Amino acid sequence: MSYQYRHTNQVLLIYTGGTIGMGANSLTGALEPLDFREFLREMPEFAAIPTKVDVYQFSPPVDSSDMNPSLWATLAKVVVENYDSYDGFVVLHGTDTMAFTASALSFMLRNLSKPVILTGSQLPVGQLRTDGKENLITSIELAADHYPDGRAKVPEVCIYFSGKLLRGNRSTKINADGFNAFDSFNYPHLADVGVSIRYHDHHILTPDYASPLRFCPQMDANVVVFTLFPGIQEGLVRHIFEAKELRGIILRTYGSGNAPQQPWLIRLLEKAGQNGLVVVNISQCAAGTVEMARYGCGTQLESAGVISGYDGTVESAVAKLMHLQALYSDPSRIRELMRQSLCGEVTIDY
Ligand code: ASP
Repeated sequence: MSYQYRHTNQVLLIYTGGTIGMGANSLTGALEPLDFREFLREMPEFAAIPTKVDVYQFSPPVDSSDMNPSLWATLAKVVVENYDSYDGFVVLHGTDTMAFTASALSFMLRNLSKPVILTGSQLPVGQLRTDGKENLITSIELAADHYPDGRAKVPEVCIYFSGKLLRGNRSTKINADGFNAFDSFNYPHLADVGVSIRYHDHHILTPDYASPLRFCPQMDANVVVFTLFPGIQEGLVRHIFEAKELRGIILRTYGSGNAPQQPWLIRLLEKAGQNGLVVVNISQCAAGTVEMARYGCGTQLESAGVISGYDGTVESAVAKLMHLQALYSDPSRIRELMRQSLCGEVTIDY
């Protein structure tokens, strides 16, 4: 089907908070949020951007450490309510939990046909050596970029940072200081930005242009991320697994999805499954995939009902589980959908 789209040459910039829009408090020196609209008025580079940029500002701005599912839904709703008026969206966001927000948005905004680019910076945009200006200006260009027939070049939720355009639900913050703060170890970059923008088209999602955007803002946050370590104690694990509100566990295992061969752990996992908990195996390694059949200490997890999180990130597994728990009460349906790629968040080799 041919795709009809009227270009507005307009991008909506949504400022949620984060270092990019902060300035130093004159008394304490600590970074605090500023009025971003005021700031943009004084940024000469901003006036030179050929795309019209409107600004929507969260009030008050949020340090991304304070992000939560309800703020994710607010953010997604801003995109939905303005969807027809803009070519794309740039979300300015703190780096600390940006990968969680990007993952959550990818599940909340299904069949997206316009770019939603999250970015931020390590140094505030008002500081001389800031990385914020390049991140901001390139993100606006990426959000506005389209093919001659009107299709957006990147119809996905992405993170743009320091020359790399990444799939949002594949991204992780990898550096607390360096400008090169994000990467997606298990998925190729969607674009690399230097003197020009090199898109890697075959890695970019293709939406179903015949169907509309589906907005799914609900999240059920009754999940826990649980990291295995040598010496882990049965009593403490039991407390967590028996919490009555708990519906889903992200189990951070060793290597290719392995766990200590302790009978008590396997018993607790089996019981969790029988009680309707969904247990998802995500490796503690930043790269590679879960393959429980590779070692005996992984096979035992599979037999206990633990499901593979494949090569997904913790951030996207958390968001996906919250999303599915909000949509379905039946744990077997949640397990079934956890085993599928809903919007490019995992690689499944059948
Ligand atoms: N604490 C800040 C935040 O995540 C850090 C940053 O923006 O990079 O909001």
